[in-house]
Amino acid sequence: RSMQLKESVVLFPSVGMGHIIPMVELAKLFIGQGFSVTIVVVEPPVDVSITNAPFISRVSSEYPSISFHRLPKVVSPAASRPPVVVHFETLRLACPHLLDFLKTIRSTSNVRALVLDMFCTSALDVADELGLPSYFFFASGASALAAFLLLPTLQSKLDGNFRDLGSSPVHFPGLPPVPASDLLIHIQERGEANDAIMFHFKRLPKAKGIMINTMEWLEKRAVEALANEDCLPDRSMPPVYCIGPLVANGSNGGEGEGERHRCLAWLDAQPEKSVVFLCFGSMGSFSAEQVKEMAIGLERSGQQFLWVVRSPPPKDDPAARPGARPEPDLEALLPEGFLERTRGKGMVVKSWAPQAAVLAHRSVGGFVSHCGWNSTLEAVSSGVPIIAWPLYAEQRMNKVFLVEEAKLAVAMEWCDKDVVSAEEVEKKIRRLMESEDGKAMKDRAVEAKEKAVAAWKEDGSSSLAWLELVRAVRRVHSYGCNNFY
Ligand code: UDP
Repeated sequence: RSMQLKESVVLFPSVGMGHIIPMVELAKLFIGQGFSVTIVVVEPPVDVSITNAPFISRVSSEYPSISFHRLPKVVSPAASRPPVVVHFETLRLACPHLLDFLKTIRSTSNVRALVLDMFCTSALDVADELGLPSYFFFASGASALAAFLLLPTLQSKLDGNFRDLGSSPVHFPGLPPVPASDLLIHIQERGEANDAIMFHFKRLPKAKGIMINTMEWLEKRAVEALANEDCLPDRSMPPVYCIGPLVANGSNGGEGEGERHRCLAWLDAQPEKSVVFLCFGSMGSFSAEQVKEMAIGLERSGQQFLWVVRSPPPKDDPAARPGARPEPDLEALLPEGFLERTRGKGMVVKSWAPQAAVLAHRSVGGFVSHCGWNSTLEAVSSGVPIIAWPLYAEQRMNKVFLVEEAKLAVAMEWCDKDVVSAEEVEKKIRRLMESEDGKAMKDRAVEAKEKAVAAWKEDGSSSLAWLELVRAVRRVHSYGCNNFY
Protein backbone atom coordinates (compact mmCIF):
# COMPACT_ATOMS: atom_id res chain seq x y z
CA ARG A 1 0.00 0.00 0.00
CA SER A 2 2.80 2.36 0.93
CA MET A 3 4.24 2.12 -2.56
CA GLN A 4 1.27 4.06 -3.95
CA LEU A 5 1.78 6.91 -1.55
CA LYS A 6 4.02 9.82 -2.31
CA GLU A 7 7.42 9.35 -0.77
CA SER A 8 8.07 11.66 2.12
CA VAL A 9 10.78 12.71 4.52
CA VAL A 10 10.51 14.16 8.00
CA LEU A 11 13.01 16.84 8.95
CA PHE A 12 13.80 17.64 12.57
CA PRO A 13 15.74 20.90 12.97
CA SER A 14 17.04 22.29 16.19
CA VAL A 15 15.50 25.54 17.43
CA GLY A 16 16.99 28.82 16.21
CA MET A 17 16.98 30.51 12.83
CA GLY A 18 20.49 29.33 11.97
CA HIS A 19 19.15 25.76 12.01
CA ILE A 20 15.65 26.28 10.62
CA ILE A 21 16.62 28.43 7.60
CA PRO A 22 18.94 25.86 5.96
CA MET A 23 16.55 23.01 6.86
CA VAL A 24 13.85 24.80 4.87
CA GLU A 25 16.25 25.02 1.94
CA LEU A 26 16.82 21.28 2.23
CA ALA A 27 13.04 20.78 2.28
CA LYS A 28 12.78 22.65 -1.03
CA LEU A 29 15.35 20.30 -2.57
CA PHE A 30 13.39 17.23 -1.46
CA ILE A 31 10.23 18.71 -2.90
CA GLY A 32 12.05 19.22 -6.18
CA GLN A 33 12.63 15.46 -6.21
CA GLY A 34 8.95 14.69 -5.73
CA PHE A 35 8.98 14.04 -2.00
CA SER A 36 6.51 15.53 0.41
CA VAL A 37 8.17 17.08 3.43
CA THR A 38 7.19 17.61 7.02
CA ILE A 39 9.34 19.80 9.24
CA VAL A 40 8.85 18.99 12.88
CA VAL A 41 9.32 21.99 15.13
CA VAL A 42 9.88 22.15 18.83
CA GLU A 43 8.59 25.03 20.88
CA PRO A 44 11.70 26.72 22.24
CA PRO A 45 11.79 26.87 26.03
CA VAL A 46 12.78 30.52 25.78
CA ASP A 47 12.58 32.84 22.84
CA VAL A 48 16.00 31.83 21.58
CA SER A 49 16.19 33.91 18.49
CA ILE A 50 14.38 36.56 16.60
CA THR A 51 11.56 35.89 14.11
CA ASN A 52 11.20 32.09 14.34
CA ALA A 53 7.42 32.22 14.23
CA PRO A 54 6.94 34.81 11.46
CA PHE A 55 9.53 32.97 9.38
CA ILE A 56 7.68 29.68 9.67
CA SER A 57 4.35 31.24 8.75
CA ARG A 58 5.90 32.95 5.72
CA VAL A 59 7.46 29.69 4.49
CA SER A 60 4.13 27.89 5.04
CA SER A 61 2.29 30.34 2.87
CA GLU A 62 4.97 30.52 0.16
CA TYR A 63 5.56 26.75 0.01
CA PRO A 64 2.30 24.95 0.77
CA SER A 65 3.93 21.61 0.03
CA ILE A 66 6.19 21.99 3.08
CA SER A 67 4.14 21.19 6.14
CA PHE A 68 5.17 22.13 9.62
CA HIS A 69 4.19 19.98 12.57
CA ARG A 70 4.52 21.52 16.00
CA LEU A 71 5.31 19.01 18.71
CA PRO A 72 3.56 19.54 22.05
CA LYS A 73 5.52 21.79 24.37
CA VAL A 74 7.73 19.89 26.77
CA VAL A 75 8.18 20.64 30.43
CA SER A 76 11.03 23.13 30.45
CA PRO A 77 14.26 21.91 31.98
CA ALA A 78 15.41 24.01 34.92
CA ALA A 79 16.42 27.43 33.67
CA SER A 80 19.30 27.42 36.16
CA ARG A 81 21.17 24.94 33.97
CA PRO A 82 23.49 26.24 31.23
CA PRO A 83 21.40 27.59 28.30
CA VAL A 84 22.93 25.13 25.87
CA VAL A 85 21.89 22.25 28.16
CA VAL A 86 18.33 23.61 28.39
CA HIS A 87 18.29 23.82 24.61
CA PHE A 88 19.50 20.24 24.11
CA GLU A 89 17.28 18.86 26.86
CA THR A 90 14.26 20.41 25.19
CA LEU A 91 15.12 18.58 21.99
CA ARG A 92 15.66 15.32 23.86
CA LEU A 93 12.41 15.61 25.81
CA ALA A 94 10.58 16.21 22.54
CA CYS A 95 11.63 12.78 21.21
CA PRO A 96 8.70 10.77 22.68
CA HIS A 97 6.36 13.24 20.94
CA LEU A 98 8.30 12.78 17.71
CA LEU A 99 7.91 9.03 18.07
CA ASP A 100 4.14 9.40 18.59
CA PHE A 101 3.88 11.65 15.57
CA LEU A 102 5.79 9.23 13.33
CA LYS A 103 3.62 6.34 14.53
CA THR A 104 0.48 8.35 13.82
CA ILE A 105 1.46 9.14 10.25
CA ARG A 106 2.77 5.64 9.58
CA SER A 107 -0.48 4.38 8.07
CA THR A 108 -1.04 7.38 5.84
CA SER A 109 2.44 8.24 4.60
CA ASN A 110 5.43 6.66 3.01
CA VAL A 111 8.25 8.07 5.12
CA ARG A 112 11.65 7.20 3.75
CA ALA A 113 13.96 9.00 6.13
CA LEU A 114 14.24 11.08 9.23
CA VAL A 115 16.67 13.96 8.75
CA LEU A 116 18.14 15.30 11.96
CA ASP A 117 19.90 18.43 12.99
CA MET A 118 23.32 17.90 14.59
CA PHE A 119 21.85 18.63 18.03
CA CYS A 120 18.92 16.25 17.62
CA THR A 121 20.99 13.11 18.00
CA SER A 122 18.61 11.75 20.67
CA ALA A 123 16.15 11.16 17.84
CA LEU A 124 18.48 8.51 16.38
CA ASP A 125 16.82 6.18 18.89
CA VAL A 126 13.37 7.14 17.62
CA ALA A 127 14.43 6.26 14.07
CA ASP A 128 15.97 2.99 15.24
CA GLU A 129 12.86 2.01 17.14
CA LEU A 130 10.83 2.42 13.98
CA GLY A 131 13.41 0.91 11.66
CA LEU A 132 13.54 4.21 9.82
CA PRO A 133 16.82 5.38 8.25
CA SER A 134 18.20 8.54 9.81
CA TYR A 135 20.48 11.13 8.28
CA PHE A 136 22.09 14.21 9.69
CA PHE A 137 21.90 17.54 8.03
CA PHE A 138 24.96 19.25 9.45
CA ALA A 139 24.35 22.98 9.42
CA SER A 140 28.00 23.97 9.77
CA GLY A 141 30.94 23.18 7.51
CA ALA A 142 33.04 20.11 6.79
CA SER A 143 35.91 21.61 8.79
CA ALA A 144 33.70 21.95 11.85
CA LEU A 145 32.42 18.40 11.38
CA ALA A 146 35.95 17.02 11.08
CA ALA A 147 36.88 18.82 14.30
CA PHE A 148 33.70 17.85 16.16
CA LEU A 149 34.20 14.18 15.36
CA LEU A 150 37.71 14.21 16.77
CA LEU A 151 37.10 16.41 19.81
CA PRO A 152 35.80 13.67 22.16
CA THR A 153 38.97 11.63 21.46
CA LEU A 154 41.22 14.64 21.97
CA GLN A 155 39.53 15.53 25.22
CA SER A 156 39.81 11.99 26.53
CA LYS A 157 43.60 12.25 26.11
CA LEU A 158 43.74 15.64 27.81
CA ASP A 159 44.49 15.88 31.52
CA GLY A 160 42.91 19.24 32.21
CA ASN A 161 40.68 21.50 30.17
CA PHE A 162 41.08 22.89 26.67
CA ARG A 163 41.12 26.30 28.30
CA ASP A 164 44.42 25.41 29.99
CA LEU A 165 46.05 25.15 26.58
CA GLY A 166 45.56 28.88 25.94
CA SER A 167 46.34 29.74 22.36
CA SER A 168 48.40 26.57 21.70
CA PRO A 169 47.43 25.03 18.39
CA VAL A 170 45.14 22.02 18.29
CA HIS A 171 45.55 19.85 15.18
CA PHE A 172 42.66 18.37 13.26
CA PRO A 173 42.88 16.49 9.97
CA GLY A 174 42.08 18.77 7.04
CA LEU A 175 42.11 22.00 9.05
CA PRO A 176 44.70 24.66 9.70
CA PRO A 177 45.90 24.55 13.34
CA VAL A 178 43.18 25.93 15.62
CA PRO A 179 44.28 27.81 18.76
CA ALA A 180 42.66 26.01 21.72
CA SER A 181 41.11 29.29 22.78
CA ASP A 182 39.23 29.35 19.46
CA LEU A 183 37.52 26.00 20.07
CA LEU A 184 33.84 26.12 20.97
CA ILE A 185 33.26 28.14 24.09
CA HIS A 186 31.15 25.43 25.72
CA ILE A 187 33.87 22.81 25.61
CA GLN A 188 36.64 25.00 27.00
CA GLU A 189 35.99 23.51 30.43
CA ARG A 190 34.60 20.17 31.51
CA GLY A 191 31.15 20.20 33.00
CA GLU A 192 27.51 19.87 32.09
CA ALA A 193 27.64 21.92 28.88
CA ASN A 194 30.78 20.15 27.69
CA ASP A 195 29.18 16.72 28.35
CA ALA A 196 26.02 17.73 26.52
CA ILE A 197 27.91 18.77 23.41
CA MET A 198 30.32 15.84 23.38
CA PHE A 199 27.30 13.52 23.63
CA HIS A 200 26.11 14.81 20.25
CA PHE A 201 29.56 14.73 18.67
CA LYS A 202 29.95 11.07 19.59
CA ARG A 203 26.61 10.18 18.06
CA LEU A 204 27.13 11.92 14.73
CA PRO A 205 28.70 8.87 13.02
CA LYS A 206 25.70 6.72 13.93
CA ALA A 207 23.40 7.89 11.14
CA LYS A 208 23.13 6.34 7.67
CA GLY A 209 24.70 9.42 6.18
CA ILE A 210 25.66 13.00 6.90
CA MET A 211 24.67 15.84 4.61
CA ILE A 212 26.88 18.89 5.01
CA ASN A 213 25.95 22.39 3.98
CA THR A 214 29.16 23.04 2.09
CA MET A 215 30.73 22.50 -1.30
CA GLU A 216 33.84 20.47 -1.98
CA TRP A 217 35.77 23.37 -3.47
CA LEU A 218 35.41 25.46 -0.34
CA GLU A 219 36.61 22.83 2.14
CA LYS A 220 38.60 20.44 0.01
CA ARG A 221 41.03 19.28 2.70
CA ALA A 222 38.39 18.76 5.36
CA VAL A 223 36.13 16.89 2.94
CA GLU A 224 39.06 14.60 2.10
CA ALA A 225 39.80 14.06 5.77
CA LEU A 226 36.19 13.03 6.32
CA ALA A 227 36.24 10.69 3.34
CA ASN A 228 39.44 9.08 4.62
CA GLU A 229 37.94 8.74 8.10
CA ASP A 230 40.97 10.55 9.48
CA CYS A 231 38.81 12.07 12.21
CA LEU A 232 37.66 8.71 13.49
CA PRO A 233 40.71 6.48 13.61
CA ASP A 234 38.87 3.65 15.32
CA ARG A 235 35.37 3.97 13.93
CA SER A 236 33.89 4.06 10.50
CA MET A 237 32.20 7.07 8.99
CA PRO A 238 28.86 6.96 7.25
CA PRO A 239 28.83 8.47 3.75
CA VAL A 240 29.15 12.24 3.67
CA TYR A 241 27.23 14.32 1.13
CA CYS A 242 28.41 17.90 0.49
CA ILE A 243 25.20 19.45 -0.79
CA GLY A 244 25.80 23.15 -0.25
CA PRO A 245 25.81 25.97 -0.28
CA LEU A 246 22.12 25.90 0.59
CA VAL A 247 21.18 29.47 1.40
CA ALA A 248 17.89 31.29 1.61
CA ASN A 249 16.97 32.86 -1.68
CA GLY A 250 16.91 36.32 -0.22
CA SER A 251 13.42 37.22 0.91
CA ASN A 252 12.70 40.90 0.54
CA GLY A 253 11.92 41.14 4.21
CA GLY A 254 9.24 43.82 3.99
CA GLU A 255 6.43 44.20 6.46
CA GLY A 256 3.64 43.26 4.07
CA GLU A 257 3.49 40.55 1.47
CA GLY A 258 5.72 41.20 -1.54
CA GLU A 259 6.98 44.39 0.04
CA ARG A 260 10.69 45.19 -0.07
CA HIS A 261 12.57 46.14 3.07
CA ARG A 262 13.53 49.81 2.94
CA CYS A 263 17.22 48.96 3.33
CA LEU A 264 17.13 47.28 -0.10
CA ALA A 265 15.76 50.45 -1.66
CA TRP A 266 18.56 52.37 0.04
CA LEU A 267 21.12 49.91 -1.35
CA ASP A 268 19.70 50.46 -4.85
CA ALA A 269 20.95 54.02 -4.66
CA GLN A 270 24.54 53.15 -3.68
CA PRO A 271 27.48 52.50 -6.01
CA GLU A 272 28.49 48.96 -6.80
CA LYS A 273 30.31 47.07 -4.00
CA SER A 274 30.61 50.27 -1.97
CA VAL A 275 28.69 49.28 1.16
CA VAL A 276 29.99 47.43 4.18
CA PHE A 277 27.24 45.42 5.86
CA LEU A 278 27.38 44.69 9.61
CA CYS A 279 25.12 41.97 11.01
CA PHE A 280 25.68 39.35 13.69
CA GLY A 281 23.40 36.36 13.28
CA SER A 282 20.16 35.58 14.97
CA MET A 283 21.53 35.94 18.47
CA GLY A 284 24.47 38.34 18.36
CA SER A 285 24.40 41.63 20.22
CA PHE A 286 26.86 43.95 21.94
CA SER A 287 27.18 46.05 25.07
CA ALA A 288 26.24 49.73 24.76
CA GLU A 289 29.95 50.58 25.07
CA GLN A 290 30.86 48.30 22.16
CA VAL A 291 28.06 49.70 20.00
CA LYS A 292 29.49 53.20 20.51
CA GLU A 293 33.01 52.11 19.56
CA MET A 294 31.66 50.43 16.44
CA ALA A 295 29.79 53.58 15.50
CA ILE A 296 32.88 55.76 15.89
CA GLY A 297 35.05 53.35 13.91
CA LEU A 298 32.48 53.07 11.16
CA GLU A 299 32.07 56.79 10.85
CA ARG A 300 35.84 57.34 10.74
CA SER A 301 36.29 54.64 8.09
CA GLY A 302 34.44 56.93 5.70
CA GLN A 303 32.74 53.94 4.03
CA GLN A 304 29.10 53.55 3.12
CA PHE A 305 27.50 51.17 5.61
CA LEU A 306 24.38 49.23 6.43
CA TRP A 307 24.31 48.21 10.09
CA VAL A 308 21.87 46.02 12.00
CA VAL A 309 21.80 47.25 15.61
CA ARG A 310 20.19 45.37 18.50
CA SER A 311 19.44 46.29 22.08
CA PRO A 312 22.35 45.39 24.34
CA PRO A 313 21.79 42.50 26.73
CA PRO A 314 20.25 43.78 29.98
CA LYS A 315 22.87 44.15 32.72
CA ASP A 316 20.89 42.01 35.17
CA ASP A 317 20.44 39.21 32.63
CA PRO A 318 23.39 39.10 30.23
CA ALA A 319 22.26 35.76 28.82
CA ALA A 320 18.83 37.08 27.75
CA ARG A 321 18.27 36.30 24.10
CA PRO A 322 17.65 39.09 21.59
CA GLY A 323 14.21 37.66 20.81
CA ALA A 324 13.05 38.63 24.27
CA ARG A 325 14.33 42.23 24.14
CA PRO A 326 12.68 45.46 23.08
CA GLU A 327 13.74 47.26 19.90
CA PRO A 328 16.84 49.41 20.43
CA ASP A 329 16.54 53.09 21.19
CA LEU A 330 19.02 54.29 18.55
CA GLU A 331 19.24 57.88 19.76
CA ALA A 332 20.29 56.70 23.21
CA LEU A 333 22.55 53.91 22.01
CA LEU A 334 24.54 55.61 19.25
CA PRO A 335 26.96 58.52 19.77
CA GLU A 336 25.30 61.92 19.79
CA GLY A 337 24.60 63.21 16.31
CA PHE A 338 25.75 59.97 14.66
CA LEU A 339 22.55 59.40 12.72
CA GLU A 340 22.48 62.96 11.34
CA ARG A 341 26.17 63.03 10.45
CA THR A 342 26.04 59.71 8.62
CA ARG A 343 22.75 60.37 6.83
CA GLY A 344 23.29 59.49 3.17
CA LYS A 345 26.49 57.68 4.06
CA GLY A 346 24.99 54.90 6.06
CA MET A 347 21.82 53.27 7.25
CA VAL A 348 21.02 51.71 10.60
CA VAL A 349 18.35 49.01 10.76
CA LYS A 350 16.85 47.89 14.04
CA SER A 351 17.21 44.25 15.09
CA TRP A 352 16.79 42.36 11.81
CA ALA A 353 17.54 42.85 8.11
CA PRO A 354 16.84 40.52 5.17
CA GLN A 355 20.47 39.47 5.22
CA ALA A 356 20.57 37.03 2.30
CA ALA A 357 19.01 39.65 0.01
CA VAL A 358 21.32 42.34 1.35
CA LEU A 359 24.44 40.26 0.71
CA ALA A 360 23.21 39.40 -2.77
CA HIS A 361 22.73 43.10 -3.57
CA ARG A 362 25.29 44.47 -6.02
CA SER A 363 26.08 47.45 -3.75
CA VAL A 364 27.45 45.33 -0.91
CA GLY A 365 31.23 44.93 -0.99
CA GLY A 366 32.11 43.74 2.52
CA PHE A 367 30.53 41.99 5.48
CA VAL A 368 31.39 42.36 9.16
CA SER A 369 30.07 39.03 10.41
CA HIS A 370 29.96 36.83 13.48
CA CYS A 371 30.87 33.94 11.13
CA GLY A 372 27.80 31.80 11.76
CA TRP A 373 27.90 29.16 9.05
CA ASN A 374 24.77 30.36 7.24
CA SER A 375 26.10 33.90 7.17
CA THR A 376 29.38 32.55 5.85
CA LEU A 377 27.66 30.65 3.06
CA GLU A 378 25.44 33.59 2.18
CA ALA A 379 28.58 35.73 1.82
CA VAL A 380 30.30 33.02 -0.24
CA SER A 381 27.27 32.64 -2.53
CA SER A 382 27.18 36.39 -3.06
CA GLY A 383 30.92 36.89 -3.55
CA VAL A 384 31.33 39.15 -0.50
CA PRO A 385 34.52 39.03 1.63
CA ILE A 386 34.28 39.06 5.43
CA ILE A 387 35.65 40.80 8.48
CA ALA A 388 35.42 38.06 11.08
CA TRP A 389 34.04 39.04 14.48
CA PRO A 390 33.05 35.69 16.02
CA LEU A 391 30.77 35.71 19.06
CA TYR A 392 29.46 32.29 20.12
CA ALA A 393 29.05 28.60 19.19
CA GLU A 394 31.68 27.36 16.67
CA GLN A 395 32.20 30.82 15.14
CA ARG A 396 35.83 31.20 16.23
CA MET A 397 36.63 27.95 14.47
CA ASN A 398 34.85 29.26 11.39
CA LYS A 399 36.95 32.40 11.65
CA VAL A 400 40.17 30.36 11.65
CA PHE A 401 38.94 28.49 8.59
CA LEU A 402 37.90 31.66 6.75
CA VAL A 403 41.11 33.55 7.49
CA GLU A 404 43.76 30.83 7.34
CA GLU A 405 42.34 28.31 4.91
CA ALA A 406 39.76 29.92 2.63
CA LYS A 407 41.41 33.36 2.57
CA LEU A 408 37.98 34.92 2.44
CA ALA A 409 38.22 36.94 5.63
CA VAL A 410 40.36 39.16 7.77
CA ALA A 411 39.92 38.89 11.55
CA MET A 412 38.86 41.70 13.82
CA GLU A 413 41.50 41.63 16.54
CA TRP A 414 40.68 41.57 20.24
CA CYS A 415 37.14 40.42 19.74
CA ASP A 416 37.74 37.90 22.49
CA LYS A 417 38.45 40.79 24.85
CA ASP A 418 35.94 43.14 26.42
CA VAL A 419 35.71 45.82 23.79
CA VAL A 420 37.07 46.16 20.27
CA SER A 421 38.28 49.72 19.81
CA ALA A 422 37.00 52.21 17.27
CA GLU A 423 40.56 52.28 15.81
CA GLU A 424 40.48 48.56 15.11
CA VAL A 425 37.02 48.77 13.56
CA GLU A 426 38.13 51.61 11.30
CA LYS A 427 41.40 49.89 10.38
CA LYS A 428 39.84 46.59 9.39
CA ILE A 429 37.01 48.19 7.44
CA ARG A 430 39.46 50.35 5.51
CA ARG A 431 41.67 47.34 4.89
CA LEU A 432 38.81 45.32 3.44
CA MET A 433 37.21 48.12 1.45
CA GLU A 434 40.25 50.12 0.32
CA SER A 435 43.52 48.15 0.37
CA GLU A 436 45.25 45.83 -2.11
CA ASP A 437 44.86 43.07 0.40
CA GLY A 438 41.11 43.73 0.48
CA LYS A 439 41.04 43.63 -3.30
CA ALA A 440 42.67 40.17 -3.24
CA MET A 441 39.99 38.97 -0.81
CA LYS A 442 37.27 40.43 -3.02
CA ASP A 443 38.68 38.57 -6.04
CA ARG A 444 38.79 35.38 -4.05
CA ALA A 445 35.18 35.93 -2.90
CA VAL A 446 34.08 36.39 -6.51
CA GLU A 447 35.82 33.14 -7.39
CA ALA A 448 34.00 31.42 -4.49
CA LYS A 449 30.68 32.69 -5.81
CA GLU A 450 31.43 31.25 -9.25
CA LYS A 451 32.34 27.92 -7.64
CA ALA A 452 29.08 27.97 -5.69
CA VAL A 453 27.14 28.37 -8.92
CA ALA A 454 29.23 25.65 -10.56
CA ALA A 455 28.64 23.24 -7.66
CA TRP A 456 24.92 23.27 -8.44
CA LYS A 457 25.26 22.99 -12.24
CA GLU A 458 24.18 19.67 -13.70
CA ASP A 459 27.48 17.86 -13.08
CA GLY A 460 28.58 20.07 -10.23
CA SER A 461 29.85 18.38 -7.08
CA SER A 462 26.84 19.36 -4.95
CA SER A 463 24.29 18.30 -7.59
CA LEU A 464 25.95 14.91 -7.89
CA ALA A 465 26.19 14.45 -4.13
CA TRP A 466 22.55 15.42 -3.75
CA LEU A 467 21.40 12.90 -6.37
CA GLU A 468 23.46 10.22 -4.67
CA LEU A 469 21.76 11.04 -1.37
CA VAL A 470 18.32 10.89 -2.98
CA ARG A 471 19.16 7.50 -4.45
CA ALA A 472 20.26 6.29 -1.02
CA VAL A 473 17.05 7.55 0.59
CA ARG A 474 14.94 5.79 -2.05
CA ARG A 475 16.89 2.56 -1.65
CA VAL A 476 15.34 2.02 1.75
CA HIS A 477 15.19 -1.75 1.60
CA SER A 478 18.96 -1.86 1.85
CA TYR A 479 18.62 -0.37 5.33
CA GLY A 480 16.12 -2.97 6.42
CA CYS A 481 13.45 -0.51 7.35
CA ASN A 482 10.58 -2.25 5.57
CA ASN A 483 9.07 -3.08 8.90
CA PHE A 484 8.41 0.63 9.40
CA TYR A 485 5.52 0.29 7.00
N1 UDP B 1 19.67 36.67 9.57
C1 UDP B 1 18.92 37.59 8.88
N2 UDP B 1 18.84 38.86 9.36
C2 UDP B 1 19.47 39.27 10.49
C3 UDP B 1 20.25 38.32 11.18
C4 UDP B 1 20.35 37.04 10.69
O1 UDP B 1 18.30 37.27 7.85
O2 UDP B 1 19.36 40.43 10.84
C5 UDP B 1 19.75 35.30 9.05
C6 UDP B 1 21.03 35.11 8.27
O3 UDP B 1 20.85 35.50 6.92
C7 UDP B 1 21.28 33.62 8.44
C8 UDP B 1 20.69 33.30 9.80
O4 UDP B 1 19.79 34.37 10.11
O5 UDP B 1 20.59 32.88 7.45
C9 UDP B 1 21.74 33.23 10.87
O6 UDP B 1 22.42 32.03 10.76
P1 UDP B 1 23.96 31.89 11.11
O7 UDP B 1 24.31 30.45 10.95
O8 UDP B 1 24.76 32.83 10.33
O9 UDP B 1 24.08 32.35 12.60
P2 UDP B 1 23.30 31.97 13.95
O10 UDP B 1 22.13 32.82 14.03
O11 UDP B 1 22.98 30.51 13.88
O12 UDP B 1 24.30 32.30 14.98
